[in-house]
Amino acid sequence: MPFEGLSDKLSAVFKKMRNKGRLKESDIKEAMREVRLALLEADVNYKVAKEFVANVTAKAVGDEVLESLTPAQMVVKIVNDELTALMGAENARLNFSSKPPTVVMMCGLQGSGKTTHSAKLALHFKNQGKRPLLVACDVYRPAAIDQLKVVGEKASVPVFEMGQGDPVEIAKKAIAHAKDYGNDLVILDTAGRLHIDEELMGELSRIKETVSPQEILLVIDAMVGQDAVNVASKFDETLGIDGVILTKLDGDTRGGAALSVRAVTGKPIKFAGTGEKLEDLEPFYPDRMASRILG
Ligand code: GDP
Repeated sequence: MPFEGLSDKLSAVFKKMRNKGRLKESDIKEAMREVRLALLEADVNYKVAKEFVANVTAKAVGDEVLESLTPAQMVVKIVNDELTALMGAENARLNFSSKPPTVVMMCGLQGSGKTTHSAKLALHFKNQGKRPLLVACDVYRPAAIDQLKVVGEKASVPVFEMGQGDPVEIAKKAIAHAKDYGNDLVILDTAGRLHIDEELMGELSRIKETVSPQEILLVIDAMVGQDAVNVASKFDETLGIDGVILTKLDGDTRGGAALSVRAVTGKPIKFAGTGEKLEDLEPFYPDRMASRILG
């Protein structure tokens, strides 16, 4: 279960508050200290946790809450609203071009789930009536091209590949191919590396400049917590991203990346990956995620 640890700790804090009945300002402050600790243990970014608790406290210590008949319930509601706001409030959709094809550039470190999520996204939009084309721009590992072909076939989505050519040329040719064949959505599976390096960023920038994608989506692995958030900051600073796909949420027991990435980078989580199967992709809804965390 995602966020298990955080959910358990928050519910313990709220239970203690409910048992007190009436609350004093000091009770709220003590509860918020515990909330802050729970967030830090969930691997939430330090500044994000601090600001979050400050926001909740500011709203919770007024008479409206303290003098109410159900103060603990009101605090839970405030926490729920602030958690939702922290993750971006609304579901952020993909931008589609008014002049097809829409080009989505997928980037991320090796192992983050980029290839799998390229296919998941293709399947998701194919099921909504789009005609996607997957493009193998990860030319350095022959296995990566084969893997894209395998998942493309599973999703019954065509895969454009030119072996180990120049990724910029491949992207350009793929878009021309999409225009010829009526594919209205082009998903570029770009190269991943174990670490962010100048060469990788240079190549991604060249693809970006050449094909001007509508969406640059960064794929990050929820299970690596804060490191995933650092990766997102780096990619956003050097390349500029439009949103994040947060993968492996099914194995994330802590929740730090989900809760921090929006606040740290200003970029929304657009989709979440919740398993290895191609169907395991969900549009990311901050309010639903907040409710899940609060149990
Ligand atoms: P890439 O190197 O970034 O292209 O990563 P892959 O797409 O090859 O994924 C790496 C591994 O993570 C594979 O074994 C995938 O099956 C697995 N994986 C990808 N997404 C998810 C997910 O949402 N949940 C789980 N449990 N595993 C995933």
